[in-house]
Amino acid sequence: MPETGLLEGKRALITGSTSGIGLAMAKALQAEGASVILNGLGDADEIAALQKELGADYNGANLLDPAAIEAMMEEIGPLDILINNAGMQHVSPVEDFPTEKWDAVIALNLSAVFHTTRCAVPAMKEKGWGRIINTASAHSITASPFKSAYNASKHAVAGFTKTIALELAQSGVTANCISPGYVWTPLIEGQIPDTMKARGLSREEVINDVLLAKQPTKKFVQPHEVGALAVFLCREEAGNVTGANWSIDGGWTAE
Ligand code: NAD
Repeated sequence: MPETGLLEGKRALITGSTSGIGLAMAKALQAEGASVILNGLGDADEIAALQKELGADYNGANLLDPAAIEAMMEEIGPLDILINNAGMQHVSPVEDFPTEKWDAVIALNLSAVFHTTRCAVPAMKEKGWGRIINTASAHSITASPFKSAYNASKHAVAGFTKTIALELAQSGVTANCISPGYVWTPLIEGQIPDTMKARGLSREEVINDVLLAKQPTKKFVQPHEVGALAVFLCREEAGNVTGANWSIDGGWTAE
């Protein structure tokens, strides 16, 4: 992508940006001139290398903990762009779903989005400009079995986003979801063994008959494609795009 400096002077926090989609969004924003703050878990040396590569700050708050989120937001200060992207999955039939996993998925995928947003909004309103982008999922629109916590959290994120968009409609701050289908990232790779177990399938069967079965294009979405969509939503020309849920899912939810 050419460096056009579209986001020069903007400060952006991308949660869950040490890996996968969040990292791709951080790279895409940085390439457009934004100053990027990374967040996420992972190996300290690898994170330091990413920071160096992107000239980025890093805050390692564990987003399962509302107090840690509040401390992070206070430490970071005013933001122009907030991307709530950190997320986790757990695959299990509902009757066996560990209750602590349910709580963790809801805490990270949903409640953390509320906490960062409530902390970021006052400065955005004061400035009269802001972009809030929440990584939801095709599972914010439709469902698959054995992902009850994830699907509930993502449907809720879509509802939360619409609400915030309406609350902020006249303030210069937009709020939108990006809803990917299957993107080739560690999260997808990591759930293959659980899906094999839950459905009694081989790895190849899970990839071809479960994951890509959903995507008419028969291709995984690539992380940099999601990054490009995030950049679009940050542009001035996207100022009237708010409360939307942007599918990037190879046609999955068109069916
Ligand atoms: P990933 O596992 O590659 O990255 C997840 C990121 O979240 C990592 O940076 C990780 O460190 C961070 N994270 C996890 N737990 C955390 C915690 N407690 N506190 C702070 N950070 C934490 O996953 P990904 O595939 O890039 O997923 C990113 C987002 O995209 C998630 O919200 C996911 O639900 C969503 N999504 C992914 C896909 C896909 O196909 N990969 C599809 C639709 C939606």
